[in-house]
Parts: sequence; C-alpha cells; structure tokens
Amino acid sequence: MPTPPRGLATRLIHTAEGHQPGAAPLTTPTYETTTFVFDSTADLQAYIEGGTDRYFYTRYDNPSLHALEAKLAEAEGAEAAMVFASGMGAIASTLLSLLQAGDEVVCSAAIYGGTLHLLQSFLAKFGVVTRFVELDQLRDPTFVIGPATRVVWFESPINPTLRCLDIGRVAAACREAGVLSVMDNTFATPVNQQPLRHGVDLVMHSATKYLNGHSDVTAGAIMGSRALVDRLVPARKLIGALLDPAAAGLVARGLKTLDVRIERHNANALRLARAFDGDRRVSAVLYPGLPSHPDHAIAAAQMRGFGGMVTLDLPGGLEAASRFFDRIAVFKRATSLGGVESLCSLPVLTSQYGWTDDQLARAGVTRGMVRLSVGIEEVEDLIADVDQALE
Ligand code: PLP
Repeated sequence: MPTPPRGLATRLIHTAEGHQPGAAPLTTPTYETTTFVFDSTADLQAYIEGGTDRYFYTRYDNPSLHALEAKLAEAEGAEAAMVFASGMGAIASTLLSLLQAGDEVVCSAAIYGGTLHLLQSFLAKFGVVTRFVELDQLRDPTFVIGPATRVVWFESPINPTLRCLDIGRVAAACREAGVLSVMDNTFATPVNQQPLRHGVDLVMHSATKYLNGHSDVTAGAIMGSRALVDRLVPARKLIGALLDPAAAGLVARGLKTLDVRIERHNANALRLARAFDGDRRVSAVLYPGLPSHPDHAIAAAQMRGFGGMVTLDLPGGLEAASRFFDRIAVFKRATSLGGVESLCSLPVLTSQYGWTDDQLARAGVTRGMVRLSVGIEEVEDLIADVDQALE
C-alpha cells in the first residue's frame, strides 16, 4: 500500500523506533552501555577490518544516538544528522574537521559568543584565521569571500537583535565561490525554517535549546549531506564530544513535541511583541514578526513563524534594564533559551559582556536591552509580567 506523505509532527514522533523481533516498544529504548559485546575473535576481527557494520564502543557511536539522528535529519530535511555532547561540541567538531592551518573563516562578529571565542582564541592558535565582517557585508558574501576562505559561518535570526539574513542569498554566494556555508539554526528551529532547503551546506543546533525544549539536557547537532556529516566522525570520536545515550533519549522525547511547542512559542512571542510595540516605556521591540523590524520582509519570506525570542530596548541603559530584570517574576532570570519556561537575560551581562561601546554599536546592541525567551505559559501572564516590570 503506498504511504501517504506525513507531516512533521508525525515524522518526529514515529521515526526510528527500532526494535528487536518480538519486542516492539512504543518508545525508543536507550542503550545505556559504554561498550558492545563480540561473539568471538572472528567477530571482532571482521569488525576491525571493516567487514561488518556494528557498534563497538559508545564514544564511537551508540544506537540511541542513531534513533535521535534519524529524527533530526527528518526535522531539517537532511540526508544525515550527527549529535554531540553540546552545541559547542558540534561547532568545535565541525570547524576542526573542515579547516586546516592557512584556511580562513568569514563571519559576522554578531554570532554566538562561544563560536566567536572558539574562532578568535583557539582556532587562531592553530593557524585558522577568522575575518569578522559587518553584518551588511554578509548579506551577499560574494565580495568578502577571499582566496583562503573555506567556510562562511552565520546565524539568522541573530542574538540579541534578531536581525535576519537572506539564507538563500548567502548560500548561493558561497556555492558560487566554492565555499562551504554553515548556519546555526538554534534560534529559529527547523519548524520555522529549514536552511538546507535554501542551499546551505550544513546546519548546526544547540539542541540544549528548543530541540530538547525542557532545559534539562545539554546537546548539539549537525545536519547536512551524508558525505559532509561523515567528515565529522573522527573529530567527534577523538575529542570525546559524543552525546550521552540517556541525554539522547531525552532529546528524542523532546522532539516529539517540537512542532506544537514551537507553534505556541511563535504565537506567544508575537502577541507579546505586539503588546509592547509602540509602548512609550520601551525604545524598541525587536522581533522579526513585527513590520517595524528592519528585516521583517526577509523573515516573512523565509520563516513559517518568527520564533520565541523577543528583545526589548529600554530607554535608560543598563540601569533601566537592571530594574526590569530585578522586577520580572514569571520570566526567570537565567541565561539560555528555548525551554518551555520563559527566561529573561541581559545581553551586556551575558553574550556581549565586556564589549566596548564601539563593538556594541557595530553589533546594534545597547546597554538597555533585555532578551526574553518567551515560553509556552499563558500569554496573558507573560504580558502582565512584562507590563509590571516596566512600571
Ligand atoms: N549557538 C547558539 C545560537 C547558542 O545560543 C548557543 C548557546 O547558548 C550555542 C550555539 C552553544 O550551545 P551549547 O550551550 O549547547 O554548547
């Protein structure tokens, strides 16, 4: 019987429920083992010599990870996915696998702080140069890609301004120049946008955020073609950046509700952004779903929903932002994002800590910004909370 096409939520719930004959579990079992048993010398020898496809040692691979990877590949419309112990584990494994001394990475300084520091402080020690360009220059990277450029790394929407890049345009310019494009899709999630469908080579996620969605697991993921993803296998093994099997089981569980959670995050964030857009107590509400956002047209063209992140720019700088931060009650004062719980953070005391006025101005960040990760609580409670914190 032909199988009718299935929706994302259906595929995220039902993909890769592998089982032993006669023991079909409804949910994915977790393989809590560090190693795998061989029957004989011949069995071991066949594996070592590459004759058999099987599991050997959990730092190399584990079936629980495969089950999760199959779901993640479905989510991004990818041929293959690979999971890591954290988003940073995914980023480090990717960069170490794709680059060597003398190679150049092009990116905007307005990227996740961990990625920035890894490029600036660590990869530079091994001869990998990073050229930080203005965000506007990255809109069409044709003119900033040089002879040594191997990778263009970018995000959209970008933390904390939620500026967006035209993904298809960045990907096309990279492809034209023979350079790999890698996009961090953590903020948007595959429910809202699927960069591979716009021509990006690799998509990266901090699965710590929306993919798991419950603020209780640190994990990372990379999706792309089988050939590219396979290039990361040795780095993940040798750095020891493999995700723990139990954590993989939790992320796989979180993914089953990704579609409905994101629908609610999108709706709550849009309602909250609209509620304070134009409010005299706020200089600006930054949300790609608002027509007042500078990249609203780009976001509307490439996103199905505008995500759960909203930034408020308050008049009165850090003093005003700190007052808001100390008064907010339903939103919890914590870094991170993407969980069901609403969180509030201060960019200049987290991701942009220690930046000079000039660096902040170039990234479009002010000392009066508060970043809200809008959760899935009743939106009326969230709006009332922001309203009282602004008093
Ligand atoms: N990318 C983005 C956009 C992030 O926000 C983060 C973490 O905050 C990371 C990557 C790093 O992920 P992790 O904390 O899971 O290592």
